[in-house]
Amino acid sequence: MTKDKRIRFPSGSYQAFYEDISYRIDPENDTVEMTQRLNPRYSSESREEAVNLANKLGIENIQKRARLFLKLLLLSILLFLFLVIFPAYFSIESEGFLSVGKFLTIVSEIAFLYMFGYYRAAVNYCMDSYCEKCGKHFVFEEFEAPLVKEVSKIDAYTKTLTRYWHCRNCGHKDIKVEPRSINHHHEKKQGNLREDTCEECGKEHSIEEYRNIDVLNYALKKKIRYFKCRNCGYHEIRLNKKFKIV
Ligand SMILES: [Zn+2]
Ligand SMILES: [Zn+2]
Repeated sequence: MTKDKRIRFPSGSYQAFYEDISYRIDPENDTVEMTQRLNPRYSSESREEAVNLANKLGIENIQKRARLFLKLLLLSILLFLFLVIFPAYFSIESEGFLSVGKFLTIVSEIAFLYMFGYYRAAVNYCMDSYCEKCGKHFVFEEFEAPLVKEVSKIDAYTKTLTRYWHCRNCGHKDIKVEPRSINHHHEKKQGNLREDTCEECGKEHSIEEYRNIDVLNYALKKKIRYFKCRNCGYHEIRLNKKFKIV
């Protein structure tokens, strides 16, 4: 199954939004930029909850609880494995007891995992919101949502994630740009197009594929193709995702 999504850039326009992603073309330098804002790392509810918890228990006690529930989780997993691997330790009469034991260890695993996650998230927030410059907790925060940026150049395709943090107290700023690995290769552009009439100006034989195809992700084979009108300057990006039917 093939589905094409078309992103249109009428003559003179170089930016378009499609499914939360901003596409920006730069015909002069022959680059295409795709950017997307992600959700902030911590929601306002989770921040508030962590601060309340820290006020009630203190950061050290939250850490202790996170460690405790991790230990309890590992212990109940071990107990479950023991019940599964060595049922011979139990007599036939205690078979009922054995299945109740297995059930209880599974329930406690879920509960301990939840509690561990709860305290762990609070610990993470306490650590992330600590400002190294002024030494205060709960002041370091994201002032802008994280940005994923993919840049397609003639000879390279890069992906980065930028996180924007600053301190509410002392103004210390930390903007981190992390390179992300991406599966990419080029595929040759098509010379002769079946449909080459421009939708914008109506001229026949004026649409050409002007850049090689960016192919992302070997499994999904997401293709990005680039077209333009030689007559009026209309540009178009086509996204094509092939879904493998098994
Ligand atoms: Zn600070
Ligand atoms: Zn045209």
